[in-house]
Amino acid sequence: MEILLHVCCGPCSLYPVRALREKGIKPTGFFFNPNIHPFRELERRIHALETVSAELNFPVLWDSSGYGLKNWLQALEGRLDFNDRCPVCYAVRLEETARQAKRLGMEVISTTLLYSRYQRHEVIMDMGARTAQRHGLKFYYQDFRKGWQKGIDESLELGIYRQPYCGCVFSEAERYSKRIDRLMNRLEAENLEGGQIRKGGGNESPE
Ligand code: SF4
Repeated sequence: MEILLHVCCGPCSLYPVRALREKGIKPTGFFFNPNIHPFRELERRIHALETVSAELNFPVLWDSSGYGLKNWLQALEGRLDFNDRCPVCYAVRLEETARQAKRLGMEVISTTLLYSRYQRHEVIMDMGARTAQRHGLKFYYQDFRKGWQKGIDESLELGIYRQPYCGCVFSEAERYSKRIDRLMNRLEAENLEGGQIRKGGGNESPE
């Protein structure tokens, strides 16, 4: 069986590709992730997946339609909270995967999002099945989280870039929320200690 496997990044594809091949399934990757920001982060993740693709002899179809920041933000329609935005983010990526599978004449889709312990696994599973059905396709489900540590170990051996946050600017802010708080507290303390900023503006002459 051949499947079009949506791929979110290099490290998350290592275990699923090997696990699928062990079952006699031939995966072709599809990298479509307009949720990854900023651009230089996208570049780093693409380079990591290129290494995985070469190492595993894993064919990957690349989205070359452009940097998807604006389209992705528009798809959110203001749903910025974690609980609301992630399902939209999954839907955007699964929908495009299904469209590409139809275009390529492939009948089955899946996603490496099923590898992550941090994603909402059941939501992805349900959405994948519904998206595939809507397009007259099948969704292949496997709990790739079982290979979590194997995937990490192999990515470290390969020395590929391992991202510190999920992908979007919001997830970056969430990842560094404590650091942001610490920075803000430090700046506030400096303001208080310095006493240089006057309430109501700093331009008045001293009395
Ligand atoms: S946290 Fe991850 S899954 Fe959720 S919206 Fe951001 S990039 Fe998408």
